[in-house]
Amino acid sequence: MPNSFSYRDRLLHCEGLSVAQMASQIGTPFYLYSSQSMQEQFRAYDRAFASIPHVICFSMKANSNLAVVRLFVNEGGGVDIVSGGELFRAVRAGADPRKIVFSGVGKTRAEIADALKSGILMFNVESLPELKTIDRVAQELGLKAPVALRINPDVDPHTHDYTATGKKESKFGIDLDQAMDGYRLARSLHHLEVVGVDVHIGSQITEVEPYEKALLKVKSFVDQLRREGFGIRYFDFGGGLGIPYKDEKPPSPQEFAERVLPILSAMDLTVIFEPGRFLVGNAGILVCKVLYVKDSNAKSHVIVDAAMNDLIRPSLYGAYQEIIPVSLPAEPDRRVTADVVGPVCESGDFLAKDREIPPIQVGDLLAVLGAGAYGFTMSSTYNSRPRVPEVLVRGEEFHLVRRRETFEDLVRGEEIPVFLKGD
Ligand SMILES: *Cc1c(COP(=O)(O)O)cnc(C)c1O
Repeated sequence: MPNSFSYRDRLLHCEGLSVAQMASQIGTPFYLYSSQSMQEQFRAYDRAFASIPHVICFSMKANSNLAVVRLFVNEGGGVDIVSGGELFRAVRAGADPRKIVFSGVGKTRAEIADALKSGILMFNVESLPELKTIDRVAQELGLKAPVALRINPDVDPHTHDYTATGKKESKFGIDLDQAMDGYRLARSLHHLEVVGVDVHIGSQITEVEPYEKALLKVKSFVDQLRREGFGIRYFDFGGGLGIPYKDEKPPSPQEFAERVLPILSAMDLTVIFEPGRFLVGNAGILVCKVLYVKDSNAKSHVIVDAAMNDLIRPSLYGAYQEIIPVSLPAEPDRRVTADVVGPVCESGDFLAKDREIPPIQVGDLLAVLGAGAYGFTMSSTYNSRPRVPEVLVRGEEFHLVRRRETFEDLVRGEEIPVFLKGD
C-alpha cells in the first residue's frame, strides 16, 4: 500500500482521514485520491532528473480531473495532451501552454488550430500526412507550428499488448528508416519549425532496458539530424514508467535516471517526460460497498456497487488490482476465494477473479487499490450508471473534486424527435 493509505485502529485512512467516514458523507462508489502521494511521486521524478534541463508533462489521460492537473501545474509540471478536450481541460486547470505537448495519431484540423492558437510547446507528430495538415492549418492562421516527430524505435517494452506502442507493427510513430525523410519534409514546409524528437514506447514498463535500447537508437538519430543542420532542442522521452499493482518491481525514477542520464546529458537537450500512471496510479483507490454475497456450489460471488463502467482495467486488460477491506475484520487471517463483480449485465464485468479475500458481509466497504490512473478517465455510463464522484484529500481535509452524476446528467443533450412523439 502506498504511504498515504494506512490502517489506523483497524480502519483504512487516506492521509489523515478515515475512508469509512468519508464514505458515509459521500456515498459509494467513489474515487479517492491522495494529494500527498501525487506530490511525492512528482517530486521523486523531478529530483531524479534535476541534473539536466527537463519538463515533466503529466500525461493527463491517466487522470484528467481539473484538480489533479492543477496539483501538478502547481508543482511546476506541464501537460501531455492527446485531444482538444484535454487541451481545454489543461488550460482550464491553469496549465502554462508553453509546457503543453500534443501527442496522438489522429489530431483533427480543429484540434490543431486550437492548440496553435493556445501557443503550445510542440506537436508530437505521428505521420507525414499529419505534418502537411499541421503546416496547412498553421499557414491559415499565419502561425508557425513547433513540431517533433514521434519515432517508432521498434523495441519491445515487455508489457501488455494493448499498452505496447513502440514496436514496428504498432500504429504509433514513424519508423526510424522513414524518419529522416519526415524531418526533411518538415523542413521544406514553411509553417513548421522543427524543434524536437519524440518517443513513447508503452505503458506499465517495469524494466529500464527497453528505455535504454530506445534511447540509444534515438540518440544516434539525433546526431544524424544535427549533422544535417536540424536545430533539435527538445527530446521527449514519453512516459510509461510502471508501478507495483501486485508484485511487480518497477525501477524507481532514481534507478531509471541512473541508467539513462549519462546518455541524456550527452545529448545536450531539454528533456520532456510524460509520466501518467507513475504520478497518479497508486495515489488513488475506488471505494465501493458490498451489495450481496452469493454462494453457489461452484463459486462465491461478492457483488459490489462499482462495476466495469467505473473501473474497466480488470475487464479490459485482465489487470490485477488489489482489493482490501476498509475496516479490518476481527480475524484478519481467515480467507475465502471469491469473484468480486459489479451489477453490470456482462460476464466480463468483474473487479477481481478467484481472489483470496477476508470473509465479506453485506454492507462492508472495499477499496480497490491502484485506481488513480486509467480509472475514472476510462469510466462510462454503460447500463445508465451515473459516473461516480472523485474526492481529493490533503492532510485532514477532503474536497469533492467531481460531484456524482445525476440521472438528469445521463440524458443531457438527448432529445426525442417530433416524428416519434405522435400527438
Ligand atoms: C499514455 C501516454 C503516456 C503516459 O503513459 P503512462 O504509462 O501512463 O506513463 C505518455 N505519452 C503518450 C504519448 C501516451 O500516449
